[in-house]
Amino acid sequence: MKWKNQLTGMKPYQPGRSIDEVKKMYNLEKIDKLASNENPFGCSPKVQEFLDNQTINYALYPDGYAGNLRQALAKVVGVEETQLLFGNGSDEIIMMISRALLQPGVNTVMATPTFPQYRHNAVIDGAEVREVQLVNGNHDLQGMLDQIDINTAVVWLCSPNNPTGTLIEQDKLDEFIEKMPKDVLVVLDEAYFEYITAPSYRSSIELIEKHENVIVLRTFSKAYGLAGFRIGYAVAQEELINRLDPVREPFNNTSNSQAVAFIALQDPSFIETCRIQNEAGKKQFADFATQNRLHMYPTQGNFVLIEVKVDSDLAFENLVKKGFIIRSGNALGTPGYIRVTIGTAQQNKEFLQRLTEVLRDAEVLA
Ligand SMILES: *Cc1c(COP(=O)(O)O)cnc(C)c1O
Repeated sequence: MKWKNQLTGMKPYQPGRSIDEVKKMYNLEKIDKLASNENPFGCSPKVQEFLDNQTINYALYPDGYAGNLRQALAKVVGVEETQLLFGNGSDEIIMMISRALLQPGVNTVMATPTFPQYRHNAVIDGAEVREVQLVNGNHDLQGMLDQIDINTAVVWLCSPNNPTGTLIEQDKLDEFIEKMPKDVLVVLDEAYFEYITAPSYRSSIELIEKHENVIVLRTFSKAYGLAGFRIGYAVAQEELINRLDPVREPFNNTSNSQAVAFIALQDPSFIETCRIQNEAGKKQFADFATQNRLHMYPTQGNFVLIEVKVDSDLAFENLVKKGFIIRSGNALGTPGYIRVTIGTAQQNKEFLQRLTEVLRDAEVLA
């Protein structure tokens, strides 16, 4: 068959190991998954209550316009309904952007390491990928600007960046976008937006009002605790959303996902509580890193990238045996580090005990 050339040798996305898989492999009773930045507190209890009592007719197609959710979200975000686009997770919006703008002959610029789906989609669509190494875990915005030329179609920014957790400084971001040619789309992926606590952060919705070529991606998968429902969204000026919308499949969000996201928006205090708990969890990790002289990137997300001073895969295997699934830095382009989702206070405490044991066995810690 006539497969696209660029698919040769491509592998499907490798998710973090699942709880069931690890339970079976190591014959363990209790597993904590801190691998994929899911919310350790689950989702709003209001969502659970809704699910227990809901009466959706699944014989009917979902609302392709996601009208109810759109109306509610537009109010929360502070934009017009026409400025939103929904995806089956923000993953799908990344695919839509790629499909709409990337093709052979154009290039796309991104940091490395960063969220792998930008690259993955760009390769499938045949665009040249220009990756610019992070500097101290931060986007090298000048380096990225230097890569822009007449054939650049899309620039990807991830802030907070996955896997480092680092936030792009506001002033530098403003300046970067000012300098960007108007015919280059700037994608600002804010999957961890709800966790940001940096006082310098200003809502990127302001950037959208100012710039016709900026699109912001957010999701219900992380802080809202609804990863299993697959729902994410984009915010941009109406004209941009209208150009992108034809790429979307007509019923890309299920009735269920729209309904639970709608309910979740009614409970901002759940998000607030999670943000506060996450802040406390960050401190547990930061204290551990300081005490043990292990480097940890300053994170504005619900995960940390922390140095282990041993082979990351080895640390990963030994932690799995102790019941904790995390991500090895080897798979993320950050060898010598592991990425750990910040859990509940109890999970963090137990995890850091297990990590201490692993690092003592490896003679990294005394
Ligand atoms: C988790 C994540 C996503 C994907 O989120 P979905 O909405 O579940 O598809 C996108 N970008 C970044 C940076 C992420 O970490």
